[in-house]
Amino acid sequence: MRMNSKTAIVVLIFFLSVVSSYGQQIELLLKNGHVFDPANNINARMDLAIAGGKVLKVAANISPVDAKRVIDVTGYYVCPGLIDIHTHVFVGSKPETFADGSLSISPDDIELKAGVTTVVDAGTSGWRNFPIFKDQVVDRSKTRILAFLNIAGSGMTGKPTQEDLSDMDVDKVVETIKAYPDLIVGVKIGHYEGKEWTPFDKALSAGNKSNVPLLVECHLPQYTLEDQLKKMRPGDIITHSYEKVSERMSVVDDNKVVRPFVKEAQQRGVLFDLGHGGAGFWFSEAIPALRQGLAPNSFGTDLHRFSMNAGMKDMLNVMSKYLAMGMSKEDVLRRATWLPAKSIKREDLGNLREGTVADVVVLSIRDGKFGFIDAGGNRIEGTQKFEAELTIREGKIVWDLNGISATKFVK
Ligand SMILES: [Zn+2]
Repeated sequence: MRMNSKTAIVVLIFFLSVVSSYGQQIELLLKNGHVFDPANNINARMDLAIAGGKVLKVAANISPVDAKRVIDVTGYYVCPGLIDIHTHVFVGSKPETFADGSLSISPDDIELKAGVTTVVDAGTSGWRNFPIFKDQVVDRSKTRILAFLNIAGSGMTGKPTQEDLSDMDVDKVVETIKAYPDLIVGVKIGHYEGKEWTPFDKALSAGNKSNVPLLVECHLPQYTLEDQLKKMRPGDIITHSYEKVSERMSVVDDNKVVRPFVKEAQQRGVLFDLGHGGAGFWFSEAIPALRQGLAPNSFGTDLHRFSMNAGMKDMLNVMSKYLAMGMSKEDVLRRATWLPAKSIKREDLGNLREGTVADVVVLSIRDGKFGFIDAGGNRIEGTQKFEAELTIREGKIVWDLNGISATKFVK
């Protein structure tokens, strides 16, 4: 029987795909680690094989014979690369401002060494300057950068431009989200001191039209917390959840009881991001909230010039605070991987399913005496701290604290 040329091509493609999936060589094999992948219910000693920038296999006892490189990670946790959903990374040369400015931070400078492989910029750019942000930072960073687009046209430029109602253009926001579907994950409302609800409603409208969540960053002193939460839809995210500042009511009352309308919002599916920053995290609010079941859904750091060297430090330090506050390792790691991935509707991230991009972190948990500070200068003590031994982004090692991937030097 003669095959026609079309059939022959189909057969050839099938043959090649079978060969590549079975014959693909392991480029990097992490042996004997404790794999924690909450999305796939894995919490056990396993090996992880990487090839072509993707997770090839997660299983017990993968043979190292054909692997190009093998790293023994006995005693370490192997997890999906961490996701920090609240950062300000639109770094540029403009003084004293966040958008294209010196108050933002290059994510590669701090996030990879904290095990973070994906950051979400929290509305530092708007529809006018997102292309500059993309060209200047997103496309040139090793860290994966996603974004909430600010409802303000030029993002976080300070007053008065960021409060200009005429520059909050729903159609332009929707258009920009449509133009960059792989990068923009939501809309942000964050800074507005007027009384009218126009900016908030515009941000919500853009979120509805684009089917993406709204991030509410709370520098909205004229809106009550109750009204903000009531307007939010299930899946929308409020950040700075445990702040104690004059411009926004705390989530707990004077007796440290979680306010009923906060509970109601949580039950309705509004998500609470931590949003540490310089002023956004207080033990006096976070500890009673945790005891009453109001745990953060994600550990957004609110990375910027003023938070990184204060109580926040980095994502792992924020996560370690919750260990010190009594949360289990698994609950902490879930909130740094799979839960934030789901909250930004990026279920291709935050997990180690075979075929997923190989963004991976190898973590150690150090025992010792550690201190943790909140935004008010209060300190708690803890006995455990996360440390990132190895960070892998799309199959490539981008951080190696103690050289476990390096060649041993023989004197
Ligand atoms: Zn922020």
